[in-house]
Amino acid sequence: MDGQQSTAAKAATVGPVILLGAPGAGKGTQAKLIAQRYGIPQISTGDILRDNVARGTELGKKAKAFMDRGELVPDQLVCDMVADRLRQADCNHGFILDGFPRTVAQAEWLDQLLADQFFKNRCQVPPVVVNFRVGYNQLLQRLTGRRSCPACGRIYNIYFQPPRVPDTCDADGSKLVTRKDDTEEVIAERLKAYERQTLPLIDYYQRQGRLREINGDQPPDKVTAEAFRAMEHGDRL
Ligand code: AMP
Repeated sequence: MDGQQSTAAKAATVGPVILLGAPGAGKGTQAKLIAQRYGIPQISTGDILRDNVARGTELGKKAKAFMDRGELVPDQLVCDMVADRLRQADCNHGFILDGFPRTVAQAEWLDQLLADQFFKNRCQVPPVVVNFRVGYNQLLQRLTGRRSCPACGRIYNIYFQPPRVPDTCDADGSKLVTRKDDTEEVIAERLKAYERQTLPLIDYYQRQGRLREINGDQPPDKVTAEAFRAMEHGDRL
């Protein structure tokens, strides 16, 4: 089987993949690698919201103040946005949710949505939930050091994974940017929101028997290898 066929064969059975972890745990980086390997889209609610803010849409205008303060955007706004995205045809064989759900209410809503006949007909595999566990100090360094390419989305870290030329994307030469909410004050708020609102999801998915835990403090290639193993666990692939 050639690489293309193998990806297509896997894509037929991947189903929903949910990535959990604090801000800075590496969800975005790992989501991109999983997306490439299994041929399914990465759906980052943070990216979609930032895009809406940049384009000045109604949703972007409503979400901006919450995001600037490091707070979660209200469930209803985010759930409607996710429902629209998941109905697109590229999600037929599976998708990676990166940054969603973030509250128990969002997780309950997602369970209902996936139980809907529309999704049952398209994506019959139950979700796999991967949690990246990363220590607090490591998270802080990852968030304060994070830089990204506005053109291709590649993520760097000035401490651990610097670009070859400072502030410049290795792939396309664009000037790297720091996310507006990666400042110390907003980071502290985002981590508080994570502890209060998102951490309870670990229990929620553990009770459903879906949770796979990964030590996200390891070097990125080891984390990736564990994430792929978690994806291929049991009868999923
Ligand atoms: P992220 O890029 O995932 O760190 O998200 C950036 C910001 O977008 C968060 O701090 C929230 O304000 C907002 N956001 C992203 N995903 C969600 C979500 N599932 N629920 C509520 N707010 C979200």
